[in-house]
Amino acid sequence: MLETDVLVAGAGPAGLLLAAELALAGVRTTIVERHPSRPPYCRGFTLNSRSLDLLARRGLAEGLIAEGHRVPHAPVTGLPGPLPLTDAATDHPFSLGIPQTRVEEVLERWAADLGVEILRGHELRSFTQSPESVSSVVHNGQFGRTVSARFLVGCDGGRSTVRKQAGIGFPGVDARWYALLGDVECELPYGVSTGPDGRTVFAIPRPGYVRIVVHEDDPPADKYAPVPLERLQAQVDAVLGQHVELREPRWLTRFGDAARLAAHYREGRVLLAGDAAHIHPPAGAIGVNVALDDAFNLGWKLAATVHGTAPEGLLDTYHAERHAAGARILANTQAQVALEEAGDAPWADLMRRIAAHPAGNRALAEIITGLDACYEPGGHPWLGRLAPDVPLVVSSTETHLAALLHPGRPVLLDLTGSFAAWSAAVEVVTASSPSTSDIDAVLLRPDGHVAWVGTPGSGDDGLAEAVHRWIGDAGPPALPLGGVPESSLSAG
Ligand SMILES: Cc1cc2nc3c(=O)[nH]c(=O)nc-3n(C[C@H](O)[C@H](O)[C@H](O)COP(=O)(O)OP(=O)(O)OC[C@H]3O[C@@H](n4cnc5c(N)ncnc54)[C@H](O)[C@@H]3O)c2cc1C
Repeated sequence: MLETDVLVAGAGPAGLLLAAELALAGVRTTIVERHPSRPPYCRGFTLNSRSLDLLARRGLAEGLIAEGHRVPHAPVTGLPGPLPLTDAATDHPFSLGIPQTRVEEVLERWAADLGVEILRGHELRSFTQSPESVSSVVHNGQFGRTVSARFLVGCDGGRSTVRKQAGIGFPGVDARWYALLGDVECELPYGVSTGPDGRTVFAIPRPGYVRIVVHEDDPPADKYAPVPLERLQAQVDAVLGQHVELREPRWLTRFGDAARLAAHYREGRVLLAGDAAHIHPPAGAIGVNVALDDAFNLGWKLAATVHGTAPEGLLDTYHAERHAAGARILANTQAQVALEEAGDAPWADLMRRIAAHPAGNRALAEIITGLDACYEPGGHPWLGRLAPDVPLVVSSTETHLAALLHPGRPVLLDLTGSFAAWSAAVEVVTASSPSTSDIDAVLLRPDGHVAWVGTPGSGDDGLAEAVHRWIGDAGPPALPLGGVPESSLSAG
């Protein structure tokens, strides 16, 4: 029998970041991961601007950026050209090419440094929940053990055991098509190769190999059936009308354009994040990014709930905010696929013209990356959005807004020196900022989203309500002993 505060099922991007966020807030957290080690293949290769903005709020972006490859546009499907990020509302106007496996390594180290227990080779098989706790059975292939936790979070991917056993519906649409993917060696030129009847094969350069993607003519009855090299070879040859030898397969799989969204992200003491909560067509390279976004939103809310300091309803704002975000991701990935399939339909022509217009370009780039996330629409332009990483001077030292959030706690950023009396309710940081003359103070949630903005002449109107709503009258939980381990702040 193992006891913990939060049991996280799955050590993908969602599970690792969530566990680290919980541990940063002093919550005992255990991850169980079915696989004994990280798979040898890599699925995603992109962190988008939104993820980089979020990771920068914990000091984790810089190291990743130093070792990745910057591309000044957002990944998008269905448009003739790239989608520049030049004018987008982000501190990182570029996408970062970096293997998902490397991001997971960095997050795993961050989580382990913060004290997360990671049990690899342990599969969550079943659970029951009571009003006080969740009792889970995990199995390491030889024997099972019971884990008692106050909360269970399913970060266990698209086929989530947690989601199914919690009885959470997964409405949406089945795949209309499947594509085969093979990480192989071959002599195909990079990019798109078109066969005699207009069908295509994609060859994407990857470190030391080539990723081949080709639509599958006749998917098997079991979409999860293994893909033999012969099947991929036959499909590539059929599309190209000639034999192009594929060698040294590293990973062979298939994917489709199914889109499904969990009906609820919370069922009592059980929550969902990442692919467990949503699957969508592979457009815009968004999967890792939305998984990180969910984890970032959930971590501090669940931590405050475990500590007993959360205002009433705080944990339910996770569903309210991220289910809506998930629905938008499904819609925009489906729209990108529709755009790709639309040919010269008039609406597709209109969309392409909008994308070519600077304002349309900016809107599409922000929508597709999730940079448009705003949890409190209306009011001041900063309200509800991720606060920009503006430069600050604190006690004569130059710093920047994101650095204030590294400990993962709420902050009242006081730019006029008149909010010191609020220090009983929230940590107040008095600073000057050369770039924010229309703002007196900002209440920052631990995820960097703005809960309240004070403007000249408005005093602290509405601040008490915002503190009551997002932080609670007991104040934020105490910082765990040791605080943020400096060793985790670089990705090297
Ligand atoms: C071919 C391909 C290319 C992709 N390219 C990109 C890209 O370029 N950019 C991008 O952002 N996204 C990309 N994605 C999507 C991305 O990989 C996923 O969206 C992302 O990994 C989701 O993270 P997650 O943590 O929610 O789930 P996962 O990464 O799937 O992690 C879930 C984990 O849970 C474990 N698990 C499952 N069941 C159990 C259980 N019962 N008990 C314990 N552990 C369990 C699994 O072993 C797994 O490690 C791609 C996906 C594919 C298939």
